Amino acid sequence: MTIASNLNKIKQTLPNNVKLVAVSKFHPTEALEEAYNAGQKVFGESRMQELEVKQKSLPKDIEWHFIGHLQTNKVKAIVPYIHTIESVDSWRLLCEINKHALSFNRIVNCMLELHIAQEESKYGLSIEECKRFLSKNNWKSLQGIQITGLMAMASNTEEKEQIRNEFKLLKSTFDEIKDMFFKDINYFSEISMGMSYDYQIAIEEGSTIVRVGSAIFGNRRT
Ligand SMILES: *Cc1c(COP(=O)(O)O)cnc(C)c1O
Repeated sequence: MTIASNLNKIKQTLPNNVKLVAVSKFHPTEALEEAYNAGQKVFGESRMQELEVKQKSLPKDIEWHFIGHLQTNKVKAIVPYIHTIESVDSWRLLCEINKHALSFNRIVNCMLELHIAQEESKYGLSIEECKRFLSKNNWKSLQGIQITGLMAMASNTEEKEQIRNEFKLLKSTFDEIKDMFFKDINYFSEISMGMSYDYQIAIEEGSTIVRVGSAIFGNRRT
C-alpha cells in the first residue's frame, strides 16, 4: 500500500466536518512529501527538533499541529509557524505560548490535553484540573492564544467498549466545559480524539479532529 492510497481510503470514511491530522513523527521528509502531493495539508509532529527540520524543507502552506509534550523553553522556535498546539497541559506553557505569539504578532490555536484514559500517564490535565485551570486563570486576557478545544488519547487496549467510553467521557466533558466557560466563544469547537486503531469509534462519538499516523505512513520505530 502506498501513502496516497492509505490516505484516500481513510478520507473516504471521514465525515466532511472531521479534520485529518497526518501524524508523521519518526517518518522521513520524503514520506510527508508523498502525502502532501496526494493532497494532505495538515500534519502532526510530537518532537520539536523533528518538526523544525521538516518544517524548513517542506511547503509553507502546510498546517502544522504539535501533539507531543512541549517544554516551555522550546516554544519560541515553533510559534512563528505552528497552527495548533494540541497538547497544552499547564498555565505556564499557555502563558509562554502567548508571550511569544504576541511578539510575532500571531494568534496560536491551543487545545487543552486531558487525561481520560485509565492507564497512567505523565501528561494531560484531569477533568477536575481542567475545570480548575479554566475557572482560576485569566486566560481570556491572553491575546496571543485561542483555546480551540480539547485533546485526549484513549487507553492503549483492545477493549473497544472501554475506548468508546473514554471518548464519550471526553465529548461530555467538552460539552460541559463549553457550557461553563465558552458559551459565547465560537472558536472553542474542536474535539481531537482518535488515532489509527480507534479513529472510527472516535468519529462515532463526536470527534472533530483525528490524529492518524501508522495507518497512513506504516509502522514506525518507537
Ligand atoms: C503518535 C501519536 C498519534 C498517532 O498514532 P497512530 O497510532 O500511529 O495513528 C496520535 N496522537 C498522538 C498524541 C501521538 O503521539
